[in-house]
Amino acid sequence: MSTTIDTDRFKELLLEERQRVIDAIDNIHAENPGALGDETDEPTFQDNHLGDIATATFDREMASTLEDNSTHVLVEIDGALQRIEEGTFGVCERCGNPIDADRLEALPWATLCIEDKRKQERG
Ligand SMILES: [Zn+2]
Repeated sequence: MSTTIDTDRFKELLLEERQRVIDAIDNIHAENPGALGDETDEPTFQDNHLGDIATATFDREMASTLEDNSTHVLVEIDGALQRIEEGTFGVCERCGNPIDADRLEALPWATLCIEDKRKQERG
């Protein structure tokens, strides 16, 4: 398949984004020591009123969600970098058509063309 995608540029973008995500995950860990990795852990605040406990729980869940999302993005970025190496970058996983350039600009690790993405989101 011939493609006009500038994979070198996307590779740079992806590597930059990858580093950004890794830094973000580090920050989450730095700001929430011990708060992650144990979903069943109860808040340990004894003397605070409920609002503070709710806030603490919310913060922890936010951090956990952020980390989940970041980890997910990291996997996506690694997949995109692998596809660049394999020469399949920018090709829809499902139908094999080229992914729209605008879509790749917005989401360099996209694996589906916009049509298949919409189908997927509809379930
Ligand atoms: Zn497709």
